[in-house]
Amino acid sequence: MKKERLTLAFFIDALGWRISREFRCFEELAPHAYRQRTILGYSCAAQPTILTGLPPSGHGHWAMFERSGRSELAPLVRFSVLPDTVGRHRRFRRRLLQWHRRRSGFTGYYNFYRIPFRLFREFDISEKRDIYAPGGFDGAVESIFDILERRGVPYRVWNWKTDLDTALGELSECLTGGAPVRFALLYTAVMDALLHEHVGDVDVVGAALEELEKKLSRVVELARGAYSEVDVLIFSDHGMARTTAEIDLMAAVDSLGLAPKRDYLAFYDSTMGRFWFESERVREEITKKLRAIECGRVLTDDDLRREGVWFDDRRYGELVFLMNPGTLVVPSYMGASAPRGMHGFTPEHEDSDAAIMSSKPLEPEPSTIADTFGAMVRSAGLEGAARGRPGGADG
Ligand SMILES: [Zn+2]
Repeated sequence: MKKERLTLAFFIDALGWRISREFRCFEELAPHAYRQRTILGYSCAAQPTILTGLPPSGHGHWAMFERSGRSELAPLVRFSVLPDTVGRHRRFRRRLLQWHRRRSGFTGYYNFYRIPFRLFREFDISEKRDIYAPGGFDGAVESIFDILERRGVPYRVWNWKTDLDTALGELSECLTGGAPVRFALLYTAVMDALLHEHVGDVDVVGAALEELEKKLSRVVELARGAYSEVDVLIFSDHGMARTTAEIDLMAAVDSLGLAPKRDYLAFYDSTMGRFWFESERVREEITKKLRAIECGRVLTDDDLRREGVWFDDRRYGELVFLMNPGTLVVPSYMGASAPRGMHGFTPEHEDSDAAIMSSKPLEPEPSTIADTFGAMVRSAGLEGAARGRPGGADG
């Protein structure tokens, strides 16, 4: 006898609206496709929004690194004595990260990239706990996993810690044997990694999407054989823009001759610079310098509020300088060279848009990535279960 109902949610990082339409992917599995506005920021902001239905100012996660008076990364400052050839070496950084993950007990996603070690006294990780598990967020913020857990709904989830084929194998086993589940979410970063290097390369991207579609189709077929009703949701967090220009933002700010730390602090992400100032004079000087740079713009407080990334304590920056779509900060604390594609530009740009595709029409029609939360909640039969949301809505 078949099991009852199942929601299969496939979270495909960076499978933007534009690429999903260009390649007409997943049309058989999930023919109902909706364009979604993403949020300003990177996956570390967008994924929490999808899992909670809240903007970054609501769930608390915006950038991977936040200003902190008592950073738990402070012990790493001792590595700043290492010469750059060692301290910035990929293998060293990778080993350090593995060691740090074991030692710190942090289960969230983070990476040290090329961040200068001296900055770890001032900057801490915003995602310390696994957001793909209950209890991933601070305070009263609930993710879909908190709700599933609280309602006692059987579910499974695979996040970035499991590679795609292993996750699909485990999901297949779960579908055919074992106890029934009501909801399964599988996250994969395979398209994100591929698109960073190959966006615009029709053959490579097309072949990768075709392979992914085949893999997902096999799993859905298994699910349909085992469950009498299967909802398929395939969605992303953002798109990918082609890199068209680079700017050495660090050099531009350094040219002012100000003293980092004494005068200001800066964090250079791949598409934005975030600044904190020690005096009004320095704020004015840096702001003036940034305003003269044509390939980006200083975001106003209104911009930040409108995008849902306003934080009263300014832990993610007192001033944010955002590059125009296609222009990368190089070098940045994220990398020494520019990949072929990047995300993290204004959500207004069409390459930033994410997508959600569904086997059934979605009601109400999703228009932002925050609406993915509601789509998952409704499909899993959890309506009315989300706590403390305006008007009792589920997202
Ligand atoms: Zn990415």
